[in-house]
Amino acid sequence: MVRVVHTKEELRDALDEQGGNRALVMTMGALHEGHLSLVRAARARAHTVVVSIYVNPLQFAPGEDFEAYPRDLEADVALLEQVGVEIVFAPSDETLYPREPLVRIDPGSVATRYEGCTRPTHFAGVLQIVNKVMNLVRPDLAFFGQKDAQQLALIRTMVDDLNLDVEIVPVPIVREESGLALSSRNLYLSEEERIEALALSQALGVGRDAAAHGGDPSQALAAATRVLEEAPGVRVDYVDLVDPSTFLPVEEGATTGLLIVAAWVGSTRLIDNLEVAFRG
Ligand code: AMP
Repeated sequence: MVRVVHTKEELRDALDEQGGNRALVMTMGALHEGHLSLVRAARARAHTVVVSIYVNPLQFAPGEDFEAYPRDLEADVALLEQVGVEIVFAPSDETLYPREPLVRIDPGSVATRYEGCTRPTHFAGVLQIVNKVMNLVRPDLAFFGQKDAQQLALIRTMVDDLNLDVEIVPVPIVREESGLALSSRNLYLSEEERIEALALSQALGVGRDAAAHGGDPSQALAAATRVLEEAPGVRVDYVDLVDPSTFLPVEEGATTGLLIVAAWVGSTRLIDNLEVAFRG
């Protein structure tokens, strides 16, 4: 039976009742199979699985979708009950931010690129909440999706730079059969937009195939870019080929890289990425 807790005190009491190692999966709710694959991966490695559900205001800029973001705690808990977790931590804003935080995490230069270029305050807000929730849960393991590859890179950097005592475990992207990466924001898409959105994963696949057929990084990137530019209803924010740990563009001659994309489909902003191997 999953225990749903809302305050720091309830969380501490619930954790005190559990033994063994502890895994954390942080989410903003509106759970789908992508989230559940993180939970299953955590389940396989930990005695106690804690899932946090919190739409973190600090990582949204004014004008973004903080208010519209889908929230349904009851449905989320029902899904988590099926996978089997011990604790759901669903705090209120008052619990996590009783006042405007004065001390802030500075995510550094990687956070100014790509997602951070379009969303300049985003990663500072992400790292602030990840740090806060990890300090409350004190997990041995924390699971993050490769869907948010730049977030994953920054969390790993934070853990390294601040000597946080936790193992960060990456989990592969879960996709629909169509190729569309699962995302809570897919709920915003109309039927037509869902089809238009397939251009993102298709572009990544075309880039990967270009590399597999002997293309170099610039050719793979050009092939992916062409697909996006020709896709109806899609407005590209960025598409690039980067080193997944530094998020710097890959050098010519690299043997692998991460093809990353962000684009608007209608008014919904989607991201996706795919690892690409070059024949060298
Ligand atoms: P979110 O609720 O969007 O903040 O996501 C919570 C966690 O789930 C993050 O670590 C995401 O990277 C991960 N996640 C979201 N969508 C997917 C997906 N399609 N596949 C794998 N992980 C995902």
